[in-house]
Amino acid sequence: MRLVSMGSRTLAILGGTPAFQQPLHVGRPNVGDRRRLAARFDEMLDRGWLSNNGPLVQAFERELVRRVGTRHCIPTCNATVALEVTIRAMGLGGEVIVPSFTFVATAHALQIQGITPVFCDIDPASHNIDPARVEALITPRTTGILGVHLWGRPCDTGALARIAARHGLHLLFDAAHAFAASHEKTMIGHFGEAEVFSFHATKFINTFEGGAVATNSDALAEKVRRMINFGFQGYDSVIALGTNGKMSEASAAMGLTNLDSLEEFVAVNRRNYECYREQLDGLEAIRLLDMHSGEPRNYQYVIAEVDDSGGGLTRDELLSVLHAENVLARRYFYPGCHRMAPYQRESAAPGGWLPNTDRVAARVLSLPTGCAVGPHDISVVGAVIHQALAERARVRAHLAQDPPPQAARPLATHAAGPPGRSSGPVD
Ligand SMILES: *Cc1c(COP(=O)(O)O)cnc(C)c1O
Repeated sequence: MRLVSMGSRTLAILGGTPAFQQPLHVGRPNVGDRRRLAARFDEMLDRGWLSNNGPLVQAFERELVRRVGTRHCIPTCNATVALEVTIRAMGLGGEVIVPSFTFVATAHALQIQGITPVFCDIDPASHNIDPARVEALITPRTTGILGVHLWGRPCDTGALARIAARHGLHLLFDAAHAFAASHEKTMIGHFGEAEVFSFHATKFINTFEGGAVATNSDALAEKVRRMINFGFQGYDSVIALGTNGKMSEASAAMGLTNLDSLEEFVAVNRRNYECYREQLDGLEAIRLLDMHSGEPRNYQYVIAEVDDSGGGLTRDELLSVLHAENVLARRYFYPGCHRMAPYQRESAAPGGWLPNTDRVAARVLSLPTGCAVGPHDISVVGAVIHQALAERARVRAHLAQDPPPQAARPLATHAAGPPGRSSGPVD
């Protein structure tokens, strides 16, 4: 692919016309064969079975198990409830060690049931929880470790498992980003006592809203199944506390349809990632996180780290340039859970607490990809980035004089925010 020449165009932030008429989003939903989806909806409506472990949910579960290979992969209404239920079913309490650099649902799933998330710093190279920093956080109240495979890149499951075993801790993974990925030739789903996937509309395989709990433990699976169905065992016998975490038939219809296209979605994501690499190759001020490995990955995130140490633009300056061009890149997961309102108290400690999280969260930019984004779009985004860096002095001067409203706005939310975020205008 060639670099697109933008000629003598003026950057939109400096008064030019935006490079894109329609916004280019991060996490625009991928949807497989619509006719198959419509047929599944017709069958579902004819059957009159819309929820409560219907045939589509059962088929979706079989397909998940076939792909992941775990004994169980239980569909749920979303990943947040799946995390809450799994945390409870595993018997976690007290304190659980978790990275701060993740979507806030990871921490909320603990805190909402009175368990304190103890935030661990990340390894700046992997963006994942740094096992070398976990042991120092263990107290008599610690009951478990909740790792996250950020951007679909597996965290150091081996080191975390050794720490958990040494201290008698439970181990669970938020695998919301890592469906269809593998680690050391083992599919994500098999690590720890359980792993939780998300099929939210913004994830590369979506069920509108949805998630799943993968585990090889029959006992844990039984508890989770009961807990997502109000604690029912049989028709009118409630034997435990529970909630409603069931997946609907409509969601499973979407899930089955999208799984049929999984290989195609991954191929598109991978092609997009490689297009971005080609566009941004050689730029020192912006570096893409390496997504390749010798193993299956889903490539659903294209993550750039913006480095202004050489006099380039800051991440937020570049974000303003891109937003002006209608390129709605996102600063996932800024500023880290430890700096969000429910958790700020814990982060009040002076002296650069979680320094790697703070530094990485200030640099990361998630770039638009998925089936709605093509090579030409990416070459235009690349050209905009090159131009912005070449004209950085003017961009800087302009932003200093006329700061974007975005800087004054509350923290950007994850695309899993209010309705419309995933498919409509984001900001
Ligand atoms: C999306 C996401 C979740 C929450 O998933 P939902 O299905 O939207 O509840 C949890 N953790 C991470 C890391 C996520 O990105």
